[in-house]
Amino acid sequence: MTKPLDILIFGAHPDDAEIGMGGTIYKHSAAGYRVGICDLTYAEMSSNGTVELRQQEANAASDVLKLSMRSNLGLPDRGLWIGPENIAAITREIRKHKPKIVFAPYWEDRHPDHIACSKLVQEAVFNAKLRRYETDTPAHTVEQCYFYFINDVAESDLLVDITDCHEQKMEALRAYRTQFEAVGVNNDFVQTPLNQGYLERVEAKDRMLGQKKMIPYAEGFVTKLPYMVNLF
Ligand SMILES: [Zn+2]
Repeated sequence: MTKPLDILIFGAHPDDAEIGMGGTIYKHSAAGYRVGICDLTYAEMSSNGTVELRQQEANAASDVLKLSMRSNLGLPDRGLWIGPENIAAITREIRKHKPKIVFAPYWEDRHPDHIACSKLVQEAVFNAKLRRYETDTPAHTVEQCYFYFINDVAESDLLVDITDCHEQKMEALRAYRTQFEAVGVNNDFVQTPLNQGYLERVEAKDRMLGQKKMIPYAEGFVTKLPYMVNLF
């Protein structure tokens, strides 16, 4: 039987979760929580790198972030349509790992696959708890679903202080050399927004998000349900 995860993060492509919340991931893994990432696609439509290289890079990033689990559903890149098969595949993954908390990309982003991933995960979180949906796997209720920022940023409902683990986040991101470095093999390379100073922008974004609490680096999240706390 698969040991349940505390946190399961979904991304459309390997590197999405690291961009949005690599610091939060490392912070919780290092504290002993079981954190996993599920990539929906192998990013086979990426302009640079190959599926094989990207998988090697994802494995290296997973090691840096001390992940308990990383999976890939192998759904088609640029084919993340909102339909029953894709929703069922994600639902099965949620039921398999039984996370307390699920993270999905924020629902507005310049990349349509990030928007689709956000929508699909919301549908799957809902279906996962329905005992009469796909009855061959037991229903599972996710306690909370949060949304992380990849390209677009909105007002945050929740900030996580990642000052102590910002370096690990950047190290995990630097593992994706084919995406973020402006180098290619045998001239097989094109300029994309990712290899034109993107990591500097990620760092600037994390600094900007920390500003409201006067901390050096933060990651921001949005939630549709209220965040419940004990005041003291
Ligand atoms: Zn992406």
